[in-house]
Amino acid sequence: MTAPGLPQPEPGADHPGVPDAFGRLWTPHRMAYIDGEGKPTDDAPGQGCPFCRAPGRPDEEALIVHRGEAAYVVLNLYPYNPGHLLICPYRHVSDPTELDDSEHEEISRLTTRSLQVVRAVSAPHGFNLGMNVGAVAGAGIAAHLHQHVVPRWGGDANFLAIVARTKALPQVLGETRRLLAEAWTGTAGILDDGADG
Ligand SMILES: [Zn+2]
Repeated sequence: MTAPGLPQPEPGADHPGVPDAFGRLWTPHRMAYIDGEGKPTDDAPGQGCPFCRAPGRPDEEALIVHRGEAAYVVLNLYPYNPGHLLICPYRHVSDPTELDDSEHEEISRLTTRSLQVVRAVSAPHGFNLGMNVGAVAGAGIAAHLHQHVVPRWGGDANFLAIVARTKALPQVLGETRRLLAEAWTGTAGILDDGADG
């Protein structure tokens, strides 16, 4: 990949110390996750919860792709793949059984719409959809439920993810958000479903 603006592996021979044959791909955004940056210290709603806090910030800053009535769509700050979206109810609830009918309906509709938008923008080969309910099930922020929409490409689960738990992401989050938000509102002219804006 040589597209301008994309991170490129740096040749190992350029680094100090004993040269080796391995390139270096820097993923410093992962360090914030490893350090627990932005992670709530308790389960309370409000400013301590990233998913309660995000809708109060500008879209570009919070990486929000679309705002619905009862739920919104935001880029995962620590994506497994480019275009990894989260569908969050505005309400701070931890379990799907606590959602009311309108929240259920909108989360489902926004999930479907996310598939259309991500397909239009980046043509993934498949998706993983789902919720991790409870910290033991892998939820990073268990107190405020969120539906994952993870685009998948053949061969994307390579050794780096498995061995180092690190993903090399070829697109910066701000650019990904812009592309998805434009496709969502149809300004890219590739979608004809304007039902939810
Ligand atoms: Zn919350």
